[in-house]
Amino acid sequence: MSYIFGPVPSRRLGRSLGIDLIPFKTCTYDCIYCQLGKTNNITSERKEWFPLENIVSELKEKLDTQPDYITLGGSGEPTLYSQIGELIDRIRSMTNVPIAVLTNGSLLWQDKVRKQLMDADLVIPSLDAGDKKMFYTVNRPHPDITFEQMLEGLIAFKSEFEGKYWLEVLLLAEYTGTVSEVRKLADCVSKIYPDRVQLNTVSRPPTEEYAISVTKHQLKEFAKLFEPPAEIIADFLGIHQQIDFLSTKEDIIKMLQRRPCTINDIANGLGIHRNEAIKHIEKILENGLLEQDTLEGKIYYRCKVKEYEDA
Ligand code: SF4
Repeated sequence: MSYIFGPVPSRRLGRSLGIDLIPFKTCTYDCIYCQLGKTNNITSERKEWFPLENIVSELKEKLDTQPDYITLGGSGEPTLYSQIGELIDRIRSMTNVPIAVLTNGSLLWQDKVRKQLMDADLVIPSLDAGDKKMFYTVNRPHPDITFEQMLEGLIAFKSEFEGKYWLEVLLLAEYTGTVSEVRKLADCVSKIYPDRVQLNTVSRPPTEEYAISVTKHQLKEFAKLFEPPAEIIADFLGIHQQIDFLSTKEDIIKMLQRRPCTINDIANGLGIHRNEAIKHIEKILENGLLEQDTLEGKIYYRCKVKEYEDA
């Protein structure tokens, strides 16, 4: 199991060394726009999903890559990792590299979760809906999580946290991308009072086809409804994708035409998140272009065709 990926280039975080704390795809939400696909384990249960010691020892080996940030995220919601506070402490004791946490914010109403994040340098939570109805429509949360609790958590954390707090707001055409919905969001944001508000929209295939992006022009207009105006980060992939994935299915096919690779080889070789590599591999497998072999417990993929045209 590999828990660390990168460093990968991220426009917001520079060279970001990511830590995957949660199994794919475990989350408190099942967002209609999620680019990681449907949540197959929707939960509010916090636990040590992977052994802390294994994560720490793998991280130690990667610190010489000198990243700009160490980013706690994962294939779902990282605050579901019950040892996240201890992990932050352990990272602090090993390096001065700043620590960022990318979270959907759904568990910040829990005192314990807020306390565990206090020593991070930057926390980027998200807010995708300005009221309960839209929250259930867009985020499809675990039944334990209510809109009111989620919003209270975002507000409480801002009042206690001394690090940087950037709030990401993702807008969807025909859902949250309307003037009236953005006004509701802006109203919530005025209660949270984040250091920055960053507007985003869908930029990769979403879980539900009907989750579509707003235009750049609309984003610019919506940004003015926040006080102070929001920043626009539409060409980012959103906090739950963490990084700007640079490679495509075509790059992976080219790589596999040269030599057989594991998922980790692909992810490391192309500087992408392992889950992004898995998504592409699943699609290419469906197209019948790959064969796979297992060697010493590892699965290797190889491209069956020499000339790739359109997978
Ligand atoms: S977008 Fe983030 S919060 Fe929503 S389902 Fe995907 S991983 Fe979970």
